[in-house]
Amino acid sequence: MELKTLVTGGAGFIGSHLCHTLLEQGAEVYCVDNFLTGSKRNIEPLRSHPKFHFIHHDIIEPYFPEWLDRIYNLACPASPPAYQYNAIRTIKANTIGMINVLGMARRLKARILQASTSEVYGDPKINPQSEHYWGNVNCTGIRSCYDEGKRVAETLCFDYHRSHQVDIRVVRIFNTYGPHMDPNDGRVVSNFIVQALKGEDITIYGNGQQTRSFCYVEDLVPGLLKMMEQPSEIGPINLGNDQEFTILELAEKVLKLTKSKSKLVFRPLPGDDPTQRRPDLNRARKLFNWAPRFTLEQGLVPTIEYFQHILKSSTP
Ligand code: NAD
Ligand code: UDP
Repeated sequence: MELKTLVTGGAGFIGSHLCHTLLEQGAEVYCVDNFLTGSKRNIEPLRSHPKFHFIHHDIIEPYFPEWLDRIYNLACPASPPAYQYNAIRTIKANTIGMINVLGMARRLKARILQASTSEVYGDPKINPQSEHYWGNVNCTGIRSCYDEGKRVAETLCFDYHRSHQVDIRVVRIFNTYGPHMDPNDGRVVSNFIVQALKGEDITIYGNGQQTRSFCYVEDLVPGLLKMMEQPSEIGPINLGNDQEFTILELAEKVLKLTKSKSKLVFRPLPGDDPTQRRPDLNRARKLFNWAPRFTLEQGLVPTIEYFQHILKSSTP
């Protein structure tokens, strides 16, 4: 069946991969983006596809399409420097924008998947984090616009479900990386690869002993599709990779794979930076038989190739 599918944030890193896969599966894709952190480059290869439609729009403003079966709501800056620079807009996307998109889902009786985040767990006191954990979040810090924004966005989804029977799916995405990341967005994987390829210092924030678990985008996208299409579970569901690495280990892997001579330098740890993060993936495994397949090395290799290409094409 051809599903009319809206992807908000479709010109971003994850959104552009999602649009590509949906088109491959025969969906009619409506990509909404305001290019706050996304780019035309990410969707350029899709523009000539007869079933791809781009709508330049900010979800903070209402939008009234005529018919939709599915909505993936990804519109929100995701890198800490980007959401901190755009703090109020980040809150608006997760409150006003979320209400607009949920209203659209209600009116059109479309199923909606919300791209939530591991940040709802804040600086977690337990490791790994399962969906039952309520989190440890500061509501006034520099990460709060994003963490609390995403928390209230989840609350809105559940209240639209309880009050108006909106058919929701809530996914908590853990650190995801891959081609189409913005080389300047300041996230750790893009920063380290770009620094290594340019021979610049690798900037370790704090002592580098904080941990993250990195999911390759080609693992994540099928998980989003499976969660959307399974009939009954509304979530929240964790999606990510459960191999945990310190930031220093990540830097060493990037140096090895790029064969770079860059030096490690230590910089102050930003406020409220979580000390540990690893998803408990049992729920996704049991519910729709999903598990990540790419090791960190396997995902870093094509990501490094992508950045090599981008850096080459942007040098005069
Ligand atoms: P991204 O910044 O590359 O993509 C976000 C996209 O949303 C961009 O194209 C941006 O221009 C667009 N956007 C932002 N505000 C908008 C608005 N008000 N109206 C319309 N478009 C808007 O980030 P990403 O990594 O692709 O993340 C996509 C989604 O997944 C985000 O909601 C993010 O919170 C969530 N997520 C990502 C990760 C990750 O590790 N990549 C982890 C957890 C959650
Ligand atoms: N980080 C780092 N150097 C960088 C960028 C980030 O050491 O150049 C650290 C950051 O402090 C955090 C981790 O890497 O501990 C992951 O950062 P990212 O911004 O990718 O995402 P987060 O998981 O913090 O939202």
